[in-house]
Amino acid sequence: MPTDSKSEWYEQGLHFSCTQSGNCCTGSQGYVWFEEDEGQAMADFLGITLFDFLSQYTRSELGKRTLNETRNALGEYDCVFLKADEQGKRGCSLYNARPHQCRTWPFWPENMVSPQAWEDAARRCPGMANSLKGQGKFYPIEDIRITRDSHD
Ligand code: SF4
Repeated sequence: MPTDSKSEWYEQGLHFSCTQSGNCCTGSQGYVWFEEDEGQAMADFLGITLFDFLSQYTRSELGKRTLNETRNALGEYDCVFLKADEQGKRGCSLYNARPHQCRTWPFWPENMVSPQAWEDAARRCPGMANSLKGQGKFYPIEDIRITRDSHD
C-alpha cells in the first residue's frame, strides 16, 4: 500500500461518482466482507432477521463472513445482491444498505498503486472512466487516504 507522498500520484485529488453500473459487483470469484452491524443493516433493509440473512446470503471464509455469489450466463461471479431491473439494468439491490467495502470503491489500495492500476480498473468501471476525464465528485487526497486505509 502506498504510504509515502511520492507514490501518491493522486496528490491533487481525484474525481469520482458512482454510476451504479454494477460492474464492480461481478467478475472473478471474490469476497465482500462485512461487519455484524452491516449484516444487521442489510437484514433490516430486506426485512428479515440477522440469522436468516446470514443463512441465506452469506458464507464463512477465512474466519469472516462474506456475501454469497452466483454464476451468471458469462460464467462470472455476481454478488448475490446484484440484480437487474425491469429494463435489464443491473445494480445493487440494497445500494443504501451496502457494506463499507462497497462504499469505499474505487479507492481500494490495489487501484491506488499507480495511475496504470486506476486506468486498468476504469476499463470496467464507467465512474472511474469518467474520473479520467475529470468528471464526478471531487475527493481531496486527505479523504482518499482515509478511504484507502479503511479498506480491508
Ligand atoms: S452488496 Fe451491492 S454494491 Fe456490494 S458487491 Fe453486492 S451488489 Fe455490489
